[in-house]
Amino acid sequence: MLDLENKIVIITGGTRGIGLETAKSFAKEKAKVIIFGSKKESVDKALISLSEEGFNVEGYFPNLNSYEEVEKVIKEIHDKYGKIDVLINNAGISANKKIEDTTSDDFKSIMDLNVNAMFNVTKAVVPYMKEKKEGVILNTSSMVSIYGQPSGVGYPASKFAVNGLTKSLARELAPFNIRVNAVAPGIIKTDMVANLPKEMIEPLIKTIPLGRIGEPEDIANAFMFLASPMASYITGVILQVDGSARN
Ligand code: NAD
Repeated sequence: MLDLENKIVIITGGTRGIGLETAKSFAKEKAKVIIFGSKKESVDKALISLSEEGFNVEGYFPNLNSYEEVEKVIKEIHDKYGKIDVLINNAGISANKKIEDTTSDDFKSIMDLNVNAMFNVTKAVVPYMKEKKEGVILNTSSMVSIYGQPSGVGYPASKFAVNGLTKSLARELAPFNIRVNAVAPGIIKTDMVANLPKEMIEPLIKTIPLGRIGEPEDIANAFMFLASPMASYITGVILQVDGSARN
């Protein structure tokens, strides 16, 4: 039993790709879904497409690198619903430049979104979960957090940090009945992958034992399982959902 009905679920990076599919999947299970996006236009576009499919989802676009902005929006959501059950930290950007071409600003912007923003949203949500003595925090990692990747060093570095946040917070928050896990997707069919060069992706697909690229739904399913009571004894795990791909 997924038992997600009436759960308050916040999904960052919920406007497209994995996040949007995850929003749909939780909404299908009758959870109350709230998506965060980077700007009003992309949030509005996602909400329209969700509403056309019959899902009543809400959206916000706080600057995830401003703790004050994040805290204000999280408080607004908590004031409205009286609880926050599930946080899915999914917003992320990737990189593929060689180190010589990577500027320190490039490196910083990856860490700002993939790590610092995850910290901000998590920090803002934790007091409410602690108060209720219940909660689930799920982070989007990547298969590159296990193997590294041969370019774009900021991206795997950020995802190793995501794993560190996940495993450490799982231990810190376990006494409050807050579970913290991550999903480490392999190569998933989203804009993020569409933007990577063919020469980088095609050889990788050939090496995937399950013989296909992943669908956003594969990741949404893992999030639903980890958010559900079926995973009530699972915390601190980095769940690889990658067809056994090895980068
Ligand atoms: P995507 O590019 O389709 O979506 C990224 C999401 O992040 C969007 O909703 C966007 O609004 C949000 N975002 C981007 N910049 C932002 C910013 N500055 N502030 C707030 N939100 C911002 O990518 P995706 O493939 O759906 O990726 C989602 C997550 O999955 C990321 O964390 C990514 O690292 C991870 N991931 C993806 C793959 C893959 O193959 N697609 C593999 C491993 C991990």
